[in-house]
Amino acid sequence: MQKFIRNKGKIEEIKPFKSKNGKVFARLRGMKDVLPDEYRYWSLISKKINELTKTYGYKRIDTPILENAELYERSTGKTSDIIAKEMFSFIDKNDDKIALRPEGTPGIVRSYVEHGMFNLPQPVKLFWLGQVFRHDKPQAGRFRQFTQIDLECIGEKGPVIDAQLILIAYNFFKELQIDIMIQINSIGCSECRKAYINKLENYYKERGNRTKLCNDCKRRLGKNSLRLLDCKEDQCIAISADAPQIIDYLCEECKNHFVKVLEYLDEVEVPYNLNSHLVRGLDYYSKTVFEIWPIDADDSNVEVSRQLALGGGGRYDGLVEYLGGRPAPACGFGIGVERVILKIKEKNIPLKDDDQADIFVAQLGDQARRKAMILFEELRRAGLQVRQDFSKDSLKNQLEVANKLGTKYSLILGQKEIVDGTILIRDMESGIQEVVDFKKIRQEITKRLNNEIK
Ligand code: AMP
Repeated sequence: MQKFIRNKGKIEEIKPFKSKNGKVFARLRGMKDVLPDEYRYWSLISKKINELTKTYGYKRIDTPILENAELYERSTGKTSDIIAKEMFSFIDKNDDKIALRPEGTPGIVRSYVEHGMFNLPQPVKLFWLGQVFRHDKPQAGRFRQFTQIDLECIGEKGPVIDAQLILIAYNFFKELQIDIMIQINSIGCSECRKAYINKLENYYKERGNRTKLCNDCKRRLGKNSLRLLDCKEDQCIAISADAPQIIDYLCEECKNHFVKVLEYLDEVEVPYNLNSHLVRGLDYYSKTVFEIWPIDADDSNVEVSRQLALGGGGRYDGLVEYLGGRPAPACGFGIGVERVILKIKEKNIPLKDDDQADIFVAQLGDQARRKAMILFEELRRAGLQVRQDFSKDSLKNQLEVANKLGTKYSLILGQKEIVDGTILIRDMESGIQEVVDFKKIRQEITKRLNNEIK
């Protein structure tokens, strides 16, 4: 796409940078630059999630982007799309098979086990925000490098945790003014799921259903049969419509757990949709699984919503033990930050500018610039919200910057003020300027700002 710029009244095309040998560099396919303008959205999201995690007692954790590929193969599962099709993995210089993190949970659980976090008071509640890599086909809302917020609660089996995690996700979206619907299901434990999968496989094999399935599903049948339920191909959706539902096969414990989760959600008025086709497709899930789908005001295209889910998660009671830890039931979810930003932009949700400042320090002439630099540091150290643009010589240009930043006052130092030992305070709204003794400027400006707050 061509891009244009206005230069001295003329419209000119922006040409991509070319090095001396003519090579033009561009970012890799499916990768994204986050430019300064977009950072407003990132700040908003991190502020909101920091606030929520603090309230609900989730502590920040970071894990490396690179891990042993086997960690993901064992936990996420070799037949899952994430591992079978999308993981970025390679052999490093030590002949080890390494992977760029394709999802957050396995690394967090590895860290829990490796650092003996089972010795801490349980449950351990962790919050993670980091980069995720999947070699998927890029399209709107689907990148090869993206960012996830992850909350994981390890060491507690009670259904209140599942409900509370869903509540946190719900609050996150509601408070960002994004309309969502929670899709929820239970896929039972390894015991009751066995009987169900048997039934399911028989269903797909009978009445010629199998021949009508897409090639992926034909391959999955018998290996990861649950996945057939959430296949996005039309012919598979049609066949799956009448498939047996797992809810009817849950054991007593799984059923009670699920009912309790739903009751808690009802109690705190979190709306949800019971979705018997939601399975999540990763090996480690058990009992509760859920996804967060956007609701679009203009259409209710279920397919688009589920393909562009904003988040998803569930319970994974066996994973900690499977990765070598003491048995510890757990539950968590992930939210895709880029998709949240797309939603905020799409809906034109107004953003508060948190870069607002009170004071701008302007100067005219080199001597004034030196004195202004010292004043700026003094005001900054005193904790005042102060801004400057010392590279500019013209006062007009500096005041334009001050206006853009929305500062209330500009402090102006010129040659005359230097000689007189004074400084000008300009009220940016009224344009009225007053001469003040330079030595008293800090007191004077603080007084004015305090008066305004009152
Ligand atoms: P998943 O672990 O696949 O359930 O992903 C959790 C969330 O991450 C999804 O609901 C999306 O919001 C986000 N996500 C997953 N894949 C991508 C992708 N390729 N690009 C951008 N966001 C993604």
